[in-house]
Amino acid sequence: MEKIYLIFLGPPGSGKGTQAQMLSAKAKLPIISTGELLRHEQEKNTNKGKMIKEIIVKGKLVSNKIVEAIINKRLTAKDANKGMIFDGFPRNKNQLRHLTGKLGKNNVYAILVDVSDKEVKRRLGGRRMCACGATYHLKYNPPQKSGICDLCRGKLFIRNDDRPKVIADRLKLYHQQSEPLIDYWLKSKRLIKINGGQNISRVRKDIEKKIRNLGIKL
Ligand code: AMP
Repeated sequence: MEKIYLIFLGPPGSGKGTQAQMLSAKAKLPIISTGELLRHEQEKNTNKGKMIKEIIVKGKLVSNKIVEAIINKRLTAKDANKGMIFDGFPRNKNQLRHLTGKLGKNNVYAILVDVSDKEVKRRLGGRRMCACGATYHLKYNPPQKSGICDLCRGKLFIRNDDRPKVIADRLKLYHQQSEPLIDYWLKSKRLIKINGGQNISRVRKDIEKKIRNLGIKL
């Protein structure tokens, strides 16, 4: 059976991580979130972990070499036999080349969760994370119990790259390096564009509908 790969695109704070999690449960496809895997790596007190931390804190991009090694390893895991959902990769032209080389002629679609810079800034201020990978927002997607993850009961925290100055730098980098990739997916007629300014469940419904329209079963 042909594998299915769904790649989430969009600025930081667009809600693509949340949508990737929901789609993963629905489509029974695992997620590769490079941001999540890098945050795990930075928690280890190794030289590599410290280096990654310094880069993430500044809102810059970790080297392609490190990120691509993570992707290669994850793609060979057992659970990747039906396909995969990508969150946060590829983020620049070299990473795109790397991924398209790996995925070949399988079913590959990009889902763009489109939101304005103004909305991004508003959303990231209220974002709360859990070490298990779950994401919440104080106003738009609050946990049932304040400060506690619904899924694993872990304590929620604020990402240190969700500070206003770092958010501005991450947005700038998105426009410079990641946004140009949209053109590639558009030209290859594999772009699913979603209005990410809607509420979470509306965005989810739109994504599922557009995926079904492509003949992919959910
Ligand atoms: P995210 O959780 O996707 O917003 O990623 C958080 C941070 O991890 C980013 O700001 C980057 O510093 C780093 N990162 C995540 N994905 C990548 C990637 N594909 N390439 C380089 N750096 C990345």
